[in-house]
Amino acid sequence: LSSEYPVEVDLPAPKELKPAYDVVIIGGGGHGLATAYYLAKYHGVTNVAVLEKSYLGGGNTARNTAVIRSNYLTSEGVRFYAESVRMFKELSNEFDFNIMYSERGQLTLAHTDATVRAFRQRAEVNKHFGGRTEMIDRQQIRELVPCLNLDPGHIPVLAGLWHIDGATARHDAVAWGYAKQAAKRGVEIHQLTEVQDFIVENGRVTTVRTNRGDVRCGCVVQAVAGASSLLMNKLNIKAPIHTYPLQAMVTQPFKPFLDPLVSSSALHCYVQQTSRGEIVFGGGSDPYPLYNTRSTLDLKESLLAHAIEMFPFMAGAKLMRQWAGSTDMTPDYSPIMGHSPLDNYYLDAGWGTWGFKATPICGWTMAELVASGGKVPELIKPFALERFSTFRQVNEMGATAASH
Ligand code: FAD
Repeated sequence: LSSEYPVEVDLPAPKELKPAYDVVIIGGGGHGLATAYYLAKYHGVTNVAVLEKSYLGGGNTARNTAVIRSNYLTSEGVRFYAESVRMFKELSNEFDFNIMYSERGQLTLAHTDATVRAFRQRAEVNKHFGGRTEMIDRQQIRELVPCLNLDPGHIPVLAGLWHIDGATARHDAVAWGYAKQAAKRGVEIHQLTEVQDFIVENGRVTTVRTNRGDVRCGCVVQAVAGASSLLMNKLNIKAPIHTYPLQAMVTQPFKPFLDPLVSSSALHCYVQQTSRGEIVFGGGSDPYPLYNTRSTLDLKESLLAHAIEMFPFMAGAKLMRQWAGSTDMTPDYSPIMGHSPLDNYYLDAGWGTWGFKATPICGWTMAELVASGGKVPELIKPFALERFSTFRQVNEMGATAASH
C-alpha cells in the first residue's frame, strides 16, 4: 500500500466452502466482485460465492494502468462505456471508500490525415451519447501539455482528440471497495480457491470442482479475464479469443508536470503521471500469443524510445518497475458478455486490454442478467458470443489500440 492510502480492507475470516450456492462467481477481480456486490445490494441475492484462485484483485485488476474513458467508435461501445464512466464518478460515495477517482482528461494524438478523420467520427459519436469529446489543434495541444514534443521524428502531431471525461482511479481500491461491500451483505469471498473443472448435466453446470472440493451451484458467472479460454475449453465452449501478454512500466516519482493522460496510437504508447508523481507507460500487447506474465527488454526499449520522442526530458528518468498481465483479445476488440451455450453459465470474457474502465457497468449488467434468470440487459446485447457466427461484430479496434 502507498503511504498516502491508509485504508485497510477488513474482510471476514476465511471459512469452509458451503456445499451449494445460488450463484458461484469464478474470479475475484473487479468484474467478479462487482457482480457479487450488485447482486447482493440491488437484487437481494446473497447466497453467492466468489472463488478466486489467487488473491483478491491480484489479476489484471492489479496490473492495469487504470485508464477510464468512453471515447469509443461504435454507438454500442460508447453507450456502454459512458454508463461505466458515469458509475465510476459515484463509486467512492457508493462504497463510502475513496477509490481516488481523478478526472484529468485524455488526449489522443493524431499523426496522419486518416487518424484525424477517424477522430472526428469518434468525437461526434461520443457527443451524441453525452460524452465530452472534441477535436483540438496543435496550439490547443501545446497549451494543454506544454512539455509534449509536437514534432516527433518522422510523424508530426496534426491534431488531438480531447476527451474531457478521461480519468483514472486507484484500481486496487475498486476491487477492495466491491469486496468489502459485498462481504458486508453476506457474499462469501474465497481466495486461494481455484476452479479446476465442472460437472455438466442436461446442458447445465450443476457442480463446480475446486482445489478445495466440489460446490453445487444454481448458476455460474465466469469473470476470469486472461484465463477465459482455459475455463471455456473445459466446457467445450468455443470463442475466438487469443491471449497475449500486455506490459506496462513505471518510473521514479517526479514533481507534477502532466495532468491529462496522453496517448498516441501511431507511436504505440501512452503516458500518464500518477498521484504519487510516477510516470506510467503502456502500449500495445506483445506481438505473439502467450500465457506468461514476464517482462521483456524488447518492449521496454521500443516503448521507451517512443515515450522519449513524445517527452524528450524523460530520457534521464529511472524505471522502477515493469510488469505484465494476460489479456484475452477478441477479433473486434469488444468483450463477450451474456449467455454461453450452457443454460446457467454466464460469460464476462474477452476483456483484452480495456476492461478496467468497464468494471462497474459489467458488475451491474451481469448482476441484472443473473437476477432476472437470464434476461439480457439491452446495454450488453451487442456483446453476445453469437455475434461471431452471425457476423455482427462491434469493431472497436481503431478506438482501442494503445489507448486501452
Ligand atoms: P482480473 O482482475 O484478472 O480478475 C480475474 C480473476 O480470475 C483473477 O484474479 C484470477 O486469479 C482469477 N482466476 C482465473 N482463473 C481462475 C480459476 N480457474 N479459478 C478461480 N479464479 C480464477 N483496462 C482499462 O480499462 N484501462 C487500462 O488502462 C488498462 N490497462 C491495462 C494494462 C495492463 C498491463 C493490463 C494487463 C491490462 C490492462 N487493462 C486496462 C485491462 C484490464 O486490466 C482488464 O480488462 C480488467 O482488469 C479485467 O477485470 P477482471 O476482473 O475481469 O479480471
